[in-house]
Amino acid sequence: MQVPFLNLRLHHEPIRAELRAAIEQVIDSSAFAGGSFVEQFEREFAQFCGAKHACGVGNGTDALWFALLALGVGPGDEVITVPSTFMATAEAITYCGARPVFVDIDEETYTMDASQLERAITPRTKAIIPVHLFGQMADMNAIIAVARKHGLPVVEDACQAHGAEYKSRPAGSVGDVGCFSFYPGKNLGALGEAGAAVTNNAELKKKMDVLRDHGQTKKYHHTVVGWNGRMDGIQGAVLSIKLTHLAGGNEKRREHARHYGKLLSGLDEIILPKEAADRTHVFHIYAIRVARRDDMIRALAQKGISCGIHYPIPVHLQEAYASLGLKSGSFPVAERCAEAFVSLPMYPELTHQQIETVALAVRTWVEESLVAV
Ligand SMILES: *Cc1c(COP(=O)(O)O)cnc(C)c1O
Repeated sequence: MQVPFLNLRLHHEPIRAELRAAIEQVIDSSAFAGGSFVEQFEREFAQFCGAKHACGVGNGTDALWFALLALGVGPGDEVITVPSTFMATAEAITYCGARPVFVDIDEETYTMDASQLERAITPRTKAIIPVHLFGQMADMNAIIAVARKHGLPVVEDACQAHGAEYKSRPAGSVGDVGCFSFYPGKNLGALGEAGAAVTNNAELKKKMDVLRDHGQTKKYHHTVVGWNGRMDGIQGAVLSIKLTHLAGGNEKRREHARHYGKLLSGLDEIILPKEAADRTHVFHIYAIRVARRDDMIRALAQKGISCGIHYPIPVHLQEAYASLGLKSGSFPVAERCAEAFVSLPMYPELTHQQIETVALAVRTWVEESLVAV
């Protein structure tokens, strides 16, 4: 049985007619760049996140960048984040002219180790970006407590955590700004590129609105140097429809995670994802940890099962950040995890049989590779 890593075609098939009708509405109204469909989605998404405002932008990287710019981050500043993330988190910091400073992750949740945060703060620190990796929120109360003590804003990188919760509070509205990506493979994905930043702060919302629209407060009146970072109308209309299916999709992912958990339990060679007691994990990625993971990925591929690695190289060891001078060994937990992570297929449309196929292939590999040693 083939088990692809992701199957977007299957995801869109049941809502194809709805999506097509929405796209035609946008064509009829010509609201292509920003406009009424984006505004409607902003209202709906803000409400979904329990936030007052949302700012629809071109992608998740834009959302992070505009959030930091709106908070006044600029050259000479430092922004604290984690090395276990997608490159975009650090890129947004660098594109403000600031320097990314890293804090290692917690070995259980793979999110920022709040106990190490305070020592990373310097007089240049301007903001903190916890990353809700794989769909589980970081320990926000602990992070916000340190941030408040030092008067620092917190920007949530919620690009993998649409609908996740921390102590019953939805991702995005716990920090000062929450940034989301609607890249097609995310839990809430557009039919193309899109992103949003949500906030309860009206002033930040206004600043981000201006930044994404060339710094215009009025047509051809530019108060700051901004950028073209608008969400397009077709994505807004499509996302309004897909948002109504998000909670159901997340519930399916959680069910699949429980199923994987049962079938893979009791294997000492494998570390399964853990959901913290005060959080709701939405399993954007179902990552296990295993030694000799390349072997395992190859064995599964031979059986038609596709896996991923998120991410093979932590950000501080990327060639692009060689100038930071951070050596291997600087963030041991992030580095150890990066060497062992394997992402198993995870999406709402997976069947029970597919999950059983994957789990059986993993168990078989573990047993056979033990014999081979
Ligand atoms: C996807 C992602 C981003 C970037 O989003 P884009 O829409 O691809 O720009 C940023 N951070 C994390 C953690 C992501 O997973």
